[in-house]
Amino acid sequence: MKLLTIIGARPQFIKASVVSKAIAEIGGLAETIVHTGQHFDDNMSDIFFDQLGIPRPDFLLNIHGGSHGAMTGRMLSEVERVMLAEKPDRVLVYGDTNSTLAGALAAAKLNIPVAHIEAGLRSFNMRMPEEINRILTDQVSDLLFCPTQAAVENLSQEGFLGKPVKILNVGDVMQDSALFFSQRERAPEGIDVPNGFILATLHRAENTDDPARLKSIVVALNKLQSTVAPVVLPLHPRTREAISRCGLPLNVSVIKPVGYLEMIWLLQRCNLVLTDSGGVQKEAFFFGKYCVTMRDQTEWIELIQAGVNVLVGADENNIVTAATKHYGKQVEDQRQLYGGGQAAERIAQYLQ
Ligand code: UDP
Repeated sequence: MKLLTIIGARPQFIKASVVSKAIAEIGGLAETIVHTGQHFDDNMSDIFFDQLGIPRPDFLLNIHGGSHGAMTGRMLSEVERVMLAEKPDRVLVYGDTNSTLAGALAAAKLNIPVAHIEAGLRSFNMRMPEEINRILTDQVSDLLFCPTQAAVENLSQEGFLGKPVKILNVGDVMQDSALFFSQRERAPEGIDVPNGFILATLHRAENTDDPARLKSIVVALNKLQSTVAPVVLPLHPRTREAISRCGLPLNVSVIKPVGYLEMIWLLQRCNLVLTDSGGVQKEAFFFGKYCVTMRDQTEWIELIQAGVNVLVGADENNIVTAATKHYGKQVEDQRQLYGGGQAAERIAQYLQ
């Protein structure tokens, strides 16, 4: 069977690294990879192909920037062109980015079946571009690979059980990646990482594109740096631009985005994770760290229910209070919330 995989953003490279490997190993499946170019900086794209052994993309579309509609439209037209030429038996998409939606929609309109990895996640916040992308992608997919039971239940609430589609709880491919690459962790080069640090990431549009939320978060990070512990912040390019546009003074250890192996090194050594990322919330759990999440909702509600993650939104006081309270806490929860690390293998088996 001929598979066409569409990826384009950092978390998709990390997820695809384990799935593409499982696809190559199982036999009977030929994979063609399309990189839309949504993330294109060396440290947001190339480094992951180099570090994680992902096959080089067969097609690099170089589409990035512009508004959501313009970017998704250009991707739709270009990926359709690739699909018409390649004639795949199935298209594989990951997560919730514009690349995901463009790939799924182009395939569906050509009557090519779509498999969605990370199906069924919901934040129930339709103002998030990711929520729109994931809901629409699920609607046109016939193989829905869910990472959690909560995701299966979301689809069931939306009436998917009565549709001619297959819903499978395979576990989360990000646990596979965390387990596989944790043996290969690597210290970030040329950076003096302070002891006892808090690892922070910040890039969600709801925080970066709202000056009041962004300011409140920056003030909280500065306060934590001066009162609790040094904050190490691998800064996403979008956030760097937004902070500079708003002229906000940021007095923490800002570093460039790091590769995944360096990220694992940081996750293993930090004393707390402070993030608005989806993936990093789970990685905190995988590496035994408490997570303070700077969002109003999360798709990973099992972490909240397990008491290892707390939602604090963008409120300065809530961020500082929660981070101070949970700083240094080890998470020793042994529950297998994410399938135990065999998700990629299960996906390859179903595809086969
Ligand atoms: N990540 C990374 N380097 C960084 C920051 C994050 O490798 O400097 C990894 C992180 O460990 C996780 C993934 O990128 O595996 C998460 O991506 P991101 O936060 O951009 O997206 P989200 O998960 O929110 O969709």
